Amino acid sequence: MSEYRQNVVNGEWVIISSERAKRPADYASTAKNKTALPEHNPDCPFCTGNEHKCQTSTYEIKNGNSWILRSVPNIFAAVSRPEQIPDTLLQRQRVSKIHLLAQGYGAAEVIIESPKHNANLVFMEKSEVYEIIKSYKERFIALSHDPNIAMVNIFKNYGATAGASLEHPHSQIIATHVLSTHITDSLTYARRAFNTYGTCIFCDLIKRELEAGDRVVTVSKHFIAFCPFAARYPYEVRICPLKHSALFGTISTEEMEDLASILQVILKKIYILLKDPDYNYYFRTVPTPDGDVRYFHWHIAITPRLMKPAGFELGTGIYINTTPPELSAEQLRNVEG
Ligand SMILES: [Zn+2]
Ligand SMILES: [Zn+2]
Repeated sequence: MSEYRQNVVNGEWVIISSERAKRPADYASTAKNKTALPEHNPDCPFCTGNEHKCQTSTYEIKNGNSWILRSVPNIFAAVSRPEQIPDTLLQRQRVSKIHLLAQGYGAAEVIIESPKHNANLVFMEKSEVYEIIKSYKERFIALSHDPNIAMVNIFKNYGATAGASLEHPHSQIIATHVLSTHITDSLTYARRAFNTYGTCIFCDLIKRELEAGDRVVTVSKHFIAFCPFAARYPYEVRICPLKHSALFGTISTEEMEDLASILQVILKKIYILLKDPDYNYYFRTVPTPDGDVRYFHWHIAITPRLMKPAGFELGTGIYINTTPPELSAEQLRNVEG
């Protein structure tokens, strides 16, 4: 029998269809879309020697004269802001009785994770992954200081089916002037749960997952990685800080080192088990104006792209997941990461 399962942190339902349970080999591999890459590609705007093809970097880590990581404004940005950051708040415009419009103000940056065209987060040195996490934090904080930025979104698209248009290893940050209802609905749900139980629903969830153990993939000093009870995707993994924290920008150096390690472990397990699939990961944190509140808990969601949302998913928001998260977790646990 299949099951409906409710996501405890946002109320969304999924269908876990264990009757049609699929194993890793049943999913069409996206690895076949990937070819062996050269260490340097003269046509790639992110490779060394092509720095002039990008705008001036907003953040850079150097080793002697060479850069090892840098963040640059996205030249195909959906949102942008002037060089001189305004300190007054932008006004929304009512363009008809019902239509509201706001200027496309925001920041879109690409974090170039390595000078090497063929680098892969899975095989990087621990110190290189740490620098990626640190760049997320630094840019998160810097962008949060802009009074017209409401939400800073950090994410990575890996592979064409995950939305990556360039091969060179990179992550992205898009900071927007508006909040999405997707986010505000989650916050409202979490705040209501806090008002009901008097505790953070995520902290309760982590405690419960640690007790049950069957969906846990691994636990480090500061983080837990588990497959959610109501996972929308096969092999979807959440990484949450064990200690309550709502705002990603408050992460400490020791926690960043630990996060670099557990993120790499999980991505390596996914790489091995599912044969280098395309994937996305994204950070969920309270929007910066909310501060480090007690009702929300920041986390990272990692979703290998093994299935495409279709009409039912798009129409209802209810996802059909053909690999139960308990099975996903067991298989990921058993991979030597
Ligand atoms: Zn490149
Ligand atoms: Zn919490």
